[in-house]
Amino acid sequence: MNLKIENLFNLFKKYKKNGCPNCFEKNIIGFGIDYLKSNFISSIKLTDEIGKIKIYQCEKCKAQFYIQGNMYEKIIDGQIELLKEWSKRNLVCPNDLKIEIEKIGLTNNWSLDKIVPCKVELNNGKKYEYTTIIFSDKPPLGHHYSIYKNIFFIDDIKHISESEYGISLEIRRQAVKSEEQSMGFYPTVLKNRDGKKVVLNGISIFFNSSNIKGSELELANEEWNYRVEYTYDTNNYSEKTIVIAKK
Ligand SMILES: [Zn+2]
Repeated sequence: MNLKIENLFNLFKKYKKNGCPNCFEKNIIGFGIDYLKSNFISSIKLTDEIGKIKIYQCEKCKAQFYIQGNMYEKIIDGQIELLKEWSKRNLVCPNDLKIEIEKIGLTNNWSLDKIVPCKVELNNGKKYEYTTIIFSDKPPLGHHYSIYKNIFFIDDIKHISESEYGISLEIRRQAVKSEEQSMGFYPTVLKNRDGKKVVLNGISIFFNSSNIKGSELELANEEWNYRVEYTYDTNNYSEKTIVIAKK
């Protein structure tokens, strides 16, 4: 009887692949710990620890991972350097900046970290529009951070001001509650002073399209209707610059 169970186990083992999901699918951004266990003879090993974050690597494809919840998240090229910097710095937001941030108003992002849209000036005098400041205790790793062109830390920042492209606190609070109308589409209907209708998808925090700026917008207080032609912002400015502060 025991022998039979063992045979069955070996049979299952045969169908498991060697390595990790990234060995077979390069565009992968993460996978469940359970998924790895049940489908792979894992070649992922603990290799390092930076700022209390455990770093894993697949011996076969050399991809690096860290664990977030019950998932292995892939570490993107360059993010190890960023993590080292993050763990070294004191990322507490200074009071003068906090006052400016509170004036603009914080809202949640998809992972329940607080974010704010603004314009910043770095200590070196460089200015950046379309900047998201995020208050998070999670490490700056994974796909979410790889979409930003510029990544700075709160102690790089000299000055914060409101962005003319930023979406108001009232709209952002409403947009968090928007319901999915089709795959990944969470519309909130807005209007400008001329009555032009605009649609914000999900928790976008900037708008700049067809000469309509985020700060000119207000809630239209009506449902999205597929028959109506709206203006959309497809530029994803919100994904340009991020500034990281700890909670
Ligand atoms: Zn692999």
